[in-house]
Amino acid sequence: MSIFNDTKIAFADKSTQQLEKAKWMFTMIQYPSLTGIGIDALNFTIKNNFPFVENIVKNTLFEQFCGGVSREESSKVVQQMYKHHIGSIFDYAIEGKEDETTFDITCEEIKQNIKFAEGNPAIPFVVFKPTGFGRLYLYTEIQKNKELTNSEKQEWEKVKQRYLEVCQLAYEKNVIIMVDAEESWMQSAVDDLVNEMMEKFNKEKAIVWNTIQMYRTGRIAYLEADLKKAQEKNYFLGYKFVRGAYMEKERARAKELNYPDPIQPNKQATDDNYDAAVEFVLNHLDKIASFFGTHNEKSTELAMDKMKSKNLSNDDYRIHFGQLYGMSDNITYYLGNQKYNASKYLPYGPVKDVVPYLTRRAQENTSVAGQTGRELGLLKKEIERRKNLR
Ligand SMILES: Cc1cc2nc3c(=O)[nH]c(=O)nc-3n(C[C@H](O)[C@H](O)[C@H](O)COP(=O)(O)OP(=O)(O)OC[C@H]3O[C@@H](n4cnc5c(N)ncnc54)[C@H](O)[C@@H]3O)c2cc1C
Repeated sequence: MSIFNDTKIAFADKSTQQLEKAKWMFTMIQYPSLTGIGIDALNFTIKNNFPFVENIVKNTLFEQFCGGVSREESSKVVQQMYKHHIGSIFDYAIEGKEDETTFDITCEEIKQNIKFAEGNPAIPFVVFKPTGFGRLYLYTEIQKNKELTNSEKQEWEKVKQRYLEVCQLAYEKNVIIMVDAEESWMQSAVDDLVNEMMEKFNKEKAIVWNTIQMYRTGRIAYLEADLKKAQEKNYFLGYKFVRGAYMEKERARAKELNYPDPIQPNKQATDDNYDAAVEFVLNHLDKIASFFGTHNEKSTELAMDKMKSKNLSNDDYRIHFGQLYGMSDNITYYLGNQKYNASKYLPYGPVKDVVPYLTRRAQENTSVAGQTGRELGLLKKEIERRKNLR
């Protein structure tokens, strides 16, 4: 029996009414055909300003997966979770906008998040997405080593400046800044930039962290090379380890452009690769700090077991665990209860702007085998448990 099955701990923050609502919502998104139609309709109506749809979204998907429309509104959730020893990682979840004004606004928002997190243990990390600071196309061109036009060169300088400013501020405020990972055809450009920042700001400890997607082939070798460089140049490394969120897109592009699929051949291979990363970093704690961003119970338990076998305390500052808000509370709340460093990514932003994030969550919960079934099973179990108390 899983150690993550205690629903009393998992849903300590939720009223029975909230549980009933979550149960209804996960039931709705469990049926792909229903969600398929729903998602297209949702994108269309939101884009075309149907306020009543926005209201429905706010009271359903948004409420389940987001903290609020602003950092301030999300603060209630932050305080609530922190009572259970769970940190919050504000995730400014605006996606799909590619103009300089939006990039500047996002950069400013991330700086505000850093200031908000300063000296605040309830906010252990600040995070941003590479495409929040620059166009996907531009990263791709950089990765291909393409000659940029003059205006593209200026644009790229601005991207680099945004990275520098947030990392510098994070360093000054002693707040960890973590960079998300995206598609493989732009990720090397991101890795290079983040590595530069690590080298600059991680001399005393890991302030700048990158993300490694273990569904990709060759990532253990990548990790080894990073470690060698950090040892030679004397700085610390910090990584979030995830499996990876863009598998279908990655496979489709590799097929279309006829290059080797960069993704592990099957789920087991990804799982093995993830677990190899857990093993690797726990053997190099002198240099590497880690954040295991996963809803996978086995990987989480593996990391916990390795910690125990090395006699590390549960809250060792080099090891963190994290899940997304609205999912896998059974893992996060158990970890918090046992005083591990546990956090939730807490997305926020105007309802209209976070719809791409929400539709991905809904789609993921239909496509990740078993995830919705697991959520529903736990919700039902807790509702039943509470009924029997009456
Ligand atoms: C806190 C947090 C932060 C995250 N940040 C990022 C990020 O920055 N970038 C990012 O890309 N993702 C990110 N993710 C999402 C993550 O990559 C996964 O998509 C998601 O968490 C599901 O994987 P899992 O380990 O939780 O669970 P599991 O359900 O065990 O694994 C599902 C994952 O396994 C892999 N997989 C499934 N089928 C196959 C197959 N046939 N062949 C090979 N691999 C397969 C895929 O990666 C799939 O998402 C984040 C997740 C969390 C919890």
